Amino acid sequence: MVQPPNPYAPPTAYGMAPGTTYPCARCGQYGADYFPAGQPPMHRACAALGPDTLAWPWLLLAYSVVVPLGCTFVGAVLASIPYYVWRGKYPQRARTYNRHVWIGFALSCVLWGGLYAIGTFRR
Ligand SMILES: [Zn+2]
Repeated sequence: MVQPPNPYAPPTAYGMAPGTTYPCARCGQYGADYFPAGQPPMHRACAALGPDTLAWPWLLLAYSVVVPLGCTFVGAVLASIPYYVWRGKYPQRARTYNRHVWIGFALSCVLWGGLYAIGTFRR
């Protein structure tokens, strides 16, 4: 899925250089921290959005979906659904969450691979 280029996107993916802030489309104050695709930047508060952070129960969900499904992409794809839901309005949350999905995927490969190896050697 390719997103249309956002002319108001921040210059770097990980935080902006100090002093380079954008004015908010709602209140006019500088320091806008929300960059909706195709729209001028806003404060997250002005856009009625919560903080762009990930609550820890989501991590439990990610791992409990990915790990039992083992080293298959089914678990990774299922667990990635919230990532696609959040990507537009909560980019930081989506990124953090997605990182944990792949950590869980790697863990499950090690875990299930190890179980398989033990089973193979015992025969
Ligand atoms: Zn504002």
